[in-house]
Amino acid sequence: MKILGIETSCDETGVAIFCEKEGIIENKVFSQVDLHRKYGGVIPEIASRDHIRKTLPLIKSIFEERQLGKQDISGIAYTAGPGLVGALLVGASVAKSLALAWGVPAIGVHHMEGHLLATLLTEDPPNYPFIALLVSGGHSQLIACYEKQEYQLLGESQDDAAGEAFDKVAKMLGLNYPGGPVIEKLAKKGDSKRFAFPRPMTKKPGLNFSFSGLKTAVANEINSQVKITMEDKADIAASFQAAAIETIRIKCERALESTGIKVLVVAGGVSANMALRENLEKIAQHKKVKIHYPPLDLCTDNGAMIAFAGYKRLCSGYQEDLTIQVKARWPLAT
Ligand code: AMP
Ligand code: MG
Repeated sequence: MKILGIETSCDETGVAIFCEKEGIIENKVFSQVDLHRKYGGVIPEIASRDHIRKTLPLIKSIFEERQLGKQDISGIAYTAGPGLVGALLVGASVAKSLALAWGVPAIGVHHMEGHLLATLLTEDPPNYPFIALLVSGGHSQLIACYEKQEYQLLGESQDDAAGEAFDKVAKMLGLNYPGGPVIEKLAKKGDSKRFAFPRPMTKKPGLNFSFSGLKTAVANEINSQVKITMEDKADIAASFQAAAIETIRIKCERALESTGIKVLVVAGGVSANMALRENLEKIAQHKKVKIHYPPLDLCTDNGAMIAFAGYKRLCSGYQEDLTIQVKARWPLAT
């Protein structure tokens, strides 16, 4: 059985094929970051238009290279939400049209479920139950994951997502989009102790996050400097990253303690951050927790995770009609 996966929730057009026997056999991602860079963030209309340009050619190139035909495909998975509504509609329309033409089921997949199931595609997959930390450009969530794809939301960001905070701080420092990798690189040259930025919502009990206060603290620091040197920028980047990461680590520790679960899965674009991974290792050592990450190429948005999540849904008997419907907001637990 082979499932075609289509991801268009934000600024990556991802197309992939999951094969029941061989795993992920194709995974192509076209990133739009160059299109959005000059605006310092994702512009939804530009994103939708580029998905229109890229989705079908990507599918076609995979089919040609793999010498596949419609008879080889048993289902078409697409990201049905959450995400940018126009961008989602492109993937959903392509998926439903192909499903109708080829006489196969279309399977709407939750983007965040895709992210956390991507970890199952490694050679050492996590055992259920596990806590998933999903930190991306659009989400910061802690979710308890049980077998049979049951999810319980434990906490989430009340304002900016973690990746969004990296992107906004980078913008304030005059750095390129996306900010995460740039901040991480610059932080290596900086002093993370120079500025004592807040670790938001860590003193109160609870598992929710908030990153807007941290972002404001960074903005205030930048505005208070008369002339900002490269050294200052590196120190700000390092101090901001340390604050964001420590906040995330504290919340993860709390989620593991309160549920008694001993496995942590970290996914989403921010999980590519090596300083975050090193910091989380502290939990692994002190609390005897096993931490899993998706393969690096599956940390950011991609079609492979959607194809795989679609495969799992199809196997569990999931069905939907051919109405084209997407959800900009969609709690994973539902
Ligand atoms: P996603 O939403 O999963 O596609 O991930 C994109 C988000 O991840 C953007 O906000 C990026 O700034 C962020 N990101 C990517 N790489 C890193 C990194 N190394 N450190 C921190 N954030 C990152
Ligand atoms: Mg993205």
